[in-house]
Amino acid sequence: MTAEYKAKTERIEPGYRDISDRLGDYEEVERILEPAEVIEQAERCMSCGTPFCHGYACPLANIIPETNELIIEDRWEEALELLLSTHPFPEFTARVCPALCEGSCVKGINEQPVTIRQIEKMIIEKGFHEGWVKARPPVRRRVENIAVIGSGPAGLAAAERLNKLGFNVTVYEKELNPGGLLLYGIPNFKLDKAIVKRRIDLMQEEGIAFECGVNAGSDISYNYLKRRFSAVLLTGGTQLPRDLDIPGRKLRGIDFAMHFLKAQNKRIIGEPLSPGEDISANNKKVVIIGGGDTGSDCLGTALRQRAKEVYQFEILPRASECRCEDNPWPLWPEVDRVSSSHMEGGKRRWSVTTKKFEGDAKGNLKRLHCCEVEWIEKDGRHFPEELEGSSFTVEADMAVLAMGFLGPGPDPLADKLGLKRDIKGNIEVDKNHMTEIPGIFSAGDMARGQSLVVRAIADGINAAENIAAFIEPALRS
Ligand SMILES: Cc1cc2nc3c(=O)[nH]c(=O)nc-3n(C[C@H](O)[C@H](O)[C@H](O)COP(=O)(O)OP(=O)(O)OC[C@H]3O[C@@H](n4cnc5c(N)ncnc54)[C@H](O)[C@@H]3O)c2cc1C
Repeated sequence: MTAEYKAKTERIEPGYRDISDRLGDYEEVERILEPAEVIEQAERCMSCGTPFCHGYACPLANIIPETNELIIEDRWEEALELLLSTHPFPEFTARVCPALCEGSCVKGINEQPVTIRQIEKMIIEKGFHEGWVKARPPVRRRVENIAVIGSGPAGLAAAERLNKLGFNVTVYEKELNPGGLLLYGIPNFKLDKAIVKRRIDLMQEEGIAFECGVNAGSDISYNYLKRRFSAVLLTGGTQLPRDLDIPGRKLRGIDFAMHFLKAQNKRIIGEPLSPGEDISANNKKVVIIGGGDTGSDCLGTALRQRAKEVYQFEILPRASECRCEDNPWPLWPEVDRVSSSHMEGGKRRWSVTTKKFEGDAKGNLKRLHCCEVEWIEKDGRHFPEELEGSSFTVEADMAVLAMGFLGPGPDPLADKLGLKRDIKGNIEVDKNHMTEIPGIFSAGDMARGQSLVVRAIADGINAAENIAAFIEPALRS
């Protein structure tokens, strides 16, 4: 490949399935590049002396330039080994990661960054296809047992690492199936639930025990855990959604995003729904309050459920199309993003706040009273202020609250143990992920607040290594 050719090759994206096609199902919407295209994209990597993608941006410190070099040389199995040396579950981030690495790719200074996420996807999917990814139980088993509470990406990553180190790991999950938000939160059209199951099956084959339908702290006590396990890791996630305390909030038809998304994911995996859980946007006028990724997931779900009309309101102003001066490379680009769901339909509005929900005589939601806001700076902080004359109403029989989370909220085990919380309500841990009780650790969203799959995985691995070192200091890496 000549230098001239390399310079000419542009970033390409795999794109999505046709909208008319994908709105008729819940299958993954993103296409996958061809292997030849992936090699071409890997050739765009400049093998930087100081690769910001690896050392600065990726929480897992994936060794990206070297992986790309192996691909260019057609050494896919070695590329897989290198990827797996830092990352236990590339198949998840390859589908849902915003790709922090791409935000700081050096090529991105004056060109489009390398398609690192697509390269990761090809490596891991080729790995599964060729049979290179297989169960690798530890060679030597230790005597100690470790409990992991919660089976989201943080819990799974910790379990995987502890198991590799030879510990006997039991993962407790209060839902009927393991996976946390990978299974019950993120829609199937972004991450197929079969991909989550494929990994869990592999982990079981490697010797990790999953006990689902068990709410730790209420179905099993701390005393039980203490008797059986040398250490306990809490990875319960953020379970408390931010509410909107305005008149009419108690009307029927107003629900949290996670209830809405969970109901659809349960239908997909064939889990029964209790009557109160069976929420659907079918034939409804829907307003999603919250313009972030969760709101966008609700939009895509509502469109697939054949909602009559969908709005998505965001209180913040629309971000700019390209980086602002105070957001230079290699920082994560704070720019306006259009998700695959946004391309499918719905109407987005920014700088909008909802003041009141209005209902009919039967207590069902009928309309929202909203207004536009402008953001005022006072003492270095920004506040929304109603824009005079901007009030408007919107007819709706369903409102979905997608305004983020306020930490783990009440947690039966943490509360019984009286674990300290930080100022945001998350579980307080030291630099080793340990709480103030020796042997009790916490990681992922539960300890850091709502974040990303890739950070939850990195935290889980880190917590696992600290647990190992707590049990046997010689294991500190
Ligand atoms: C709708 C939605 C979409 C998202 N999309 C993306 C995305 O596209 N990309 C991205 O990077 N991030 C995304 N995120 C964020 C990401 O999913 C989270 O940051 C990540 O899942 C956190 O992992 P975790 O393991 O800490 O917690 P979770 O995934 O929340 O898992 C916690 C698990 O613990 C279980 N649990 C809690 N308490 C107990 C108990 N007492 N006993 C037993 N089990 C318990 C819960 O049932 C749950 O299964 C999304 C989040 C949401 C809500």
